[in-house]
This record gives sequence, C-alpha cells and structure tokens, in this order.
Amino acid sequence: MERVYNFAAGPATIDQSVLEKARKELVCYQDKGMSVMEMSHRSAMYLDIYNETEALLRQLMGIPDNYKVLFLQGGATLQFSAVPLNLMGEKNSADYADTGNFAHLAAEEAKKYGEVRIAASSREDGYTFIPRQFDWNPDAAYAYITTNNTIYGTRYTFVPDTGSVPLVADMSSNILSEPTDVSKFGVIFAGAQKNIGPAGLCVAIIREELLGQEKPFTPKLLSWALEAKNGSMLNTPNTYGIYMAKLVFEWLRDLGGVPAVYERNVAKAAILYDYLDESRLFRSPVHREDRSLMNVPFVTGNADRDAAFVKYAAARGLVNLKGHRSVGGMRASIYNAMPVEGVKALVDVMKAFEKENA
Ligand SMILES: *Cc1c(COP(=O)(O)O)cnc(C)c1O
Repeated sequence: MERVYNFAAGPATIDQSVLEKARKELVCYQDKGMSVMEMSHRSAMYLDIYNETEALLRQLMGIPDNYKVLFLQGGATLQFSAVPLNLMGEKNSADYADTGNFAHLAAEEAKKYGEVRIAASSREDGYTFIPRQFDWNPDAAYAYITTNNTIYGTRYTFVPDTGSVPLVADMSSNILSEPTDVSKFGVIFAGAQKNIGPAGLCVAIIREELLGQEKPFTPKLLSWALEAKNGSMLNTPNTYGIYMAKLVFEWLRDLGGVPAVYERNVAKAAILYDYLDESRLFRSPVHREDRSLMNVPFVTGNADRDAAFVKYAAARGLVNLKGHRSVGGMRASIYNAMPVEGVKALVDVMKAFEKENA
C-alpha cells in the first residue's frame, strides 16, 4: 500500500526514512540483541540512547548549559498543570496571553493554583491574530505564551519582552521548525506528536535557576526539580518515544538542522498561502502577518463545500484535512516532516477542485 500525504494536526506525519530506520532496528537494536522497547531504562545501552537524544536536541536548538532538558509523559496538557505548580512560587500569580484554544486551556488550569491575569487576548476576534500589546505585570511569577496556535493557525513572529519575568512557552506545534533563542525563555515545553515523534512524550527545557519553587502538594511526577535530579527517570520514562525522538533529531540534523528546515518550511508555507491569496474559492481566515508556518486553516465559506473538498482530497491520497471541530473548514498541518511535494500535491488538488466548482 502506498503512503498518503497526512495533513493531521497531531499525531502527525513522520518522515518515511525515520520510520524505515525504526523498522530496521525494531527487533534488534544495533548489536544489542533486543528491541529498544525491551531495554531496562537504567541499562547502559538505554542510557546511551537517552543521552544521545538529549545531546541532539541541545545541539539542534542551541540550548545553553544552564538549562535542563526533561523527557516527560502526560503530553503538553500535563505541563499546563506543571507550569503553575512549579513556578507560581510565593508570588502566586501569573500572566497569560490568550491566543488560542490551548493557551486558554493552560490559563484555566493555572487558575486552580493561583491568580491568573490575561495580559493580552484575541479570543473575542476568534483568535485570528497575535496581539502586539501586552499588559505584562512586573510582579508576576511568570508570563505565558503559546508560540504557535495549532487550531487557529497563527504564530508569534517575535518574542514578547517580559523584562525580568520568566517567559514560559508552549511550543508543541512549532518547536524545531524555526530558529529559537532559548536564552530568552525561562521554560519551553512541547508535546512530541507534532514535530518530535510519536505521542506520549513531552519535552521540557527549563532554566536551572527556576527549579525548586514547587508548591508542597505538587505530585512527585510533576516536580521538574525532582525529574531534573533524576534524569527524567523518577519512574520509567517513555523509552521508545525517546528513541523515536532520537531518530527524528538525527534526520533533522542530517537535513542541515533547524536553519535548513526553517528555510524549507517558509518555502512550503508560501506555496500554500500564495495560492490561497489568489484563489477565488478558498481563503485563509487569519491575519496575514501572523500566519503559521505549521498549521494552515482555510475555508470556502460554505460548510457543505468544505466537506466536499475534504472528501475530494482524501480520494486523491491527501488525508486529514478537516479543520478542528471547534472551527470547521479545512486545516493543512505542514510540520517539518511534510515534504514540499505534499504541499504541491495539495495545491494541485485545490486548483482542480476550484476549477470543477467554478
Ligand atoms: C497539541 C497541543 C497541545 C496538547 O498536547 P497533548 O500532548 O495532547 O496534551 C497543547 N498545546 C499545543 C500548542 C498543541 O499544539
């Protein structure tokens, strides 16, 4: 069976070469005589894999030495709880920018643990843009943003200046897709299933000086300080997910790293946005200057026609183009692993559909 172009928002497409490598090593990893899935997480052979994975991520993102890298479970959503539990501290208040569904959920979760202020919001406008004005409070324990809004298809093209207040970023849907100056952030976290690998793994990158302020009732597994002290092995980590992340990181390194994949992503997104701008049937609902490079929502303005297009594309091997249930329309997720050929194929199919429906 031939592989389709999978535009799913997450779990998302993984480069075929990565999957082939995993298949090759599935039963026997290198000369170890067993699968990675069968290895003790405490064994030297597994620790080599773990350490290589961390080193690759550090290299790809240029993570400074005063940051810890953790490989956690519970997805990005569990970090919505971990962030306030670990960072609210004595100030017990935090600022959130509400720029999409996941930003909103993160703020709602944080309210359980302390005071949450909304420093900026595009909620009233259907999350179609990224605010430029933020009412950051200098006394907040931290300031929180979502660098790419997966459902609405917007992204920050700048890093907000929060002064001495540590900036926390959910980068689940655009980590490793563009260069990031990690030193501008106190904490970065990302669920793996968009740009890193299979679901069930979450990466957290934390400036060391922020560790050790967790609330006394923080569940052990949510304490970043304890996880950091134990090399993400307070309990059994997602060993196979971490291995898959290693293969994705190696693939990314061999492509030329983040600068090279960023260039590729810009070119890929431009193919789709250029067509959306000239199409008389399809259009992009978000502000041009905030358009995501990873998630591209588009609509015809007619729900039946949208549904017909999703079916039309699926019949041609382009799948998972239906928009999120909360917004409707279509969404093409074009993460790092979506090849340029996939985007070209999508535009060809959109053009053909437009012609047939003129
Ligand atoms: C997918 C996503 C999440 C949720 O991730 P889970 O791993 O399902 O918890 C959170 N934030 C953003 C920006 C996402 O794209």
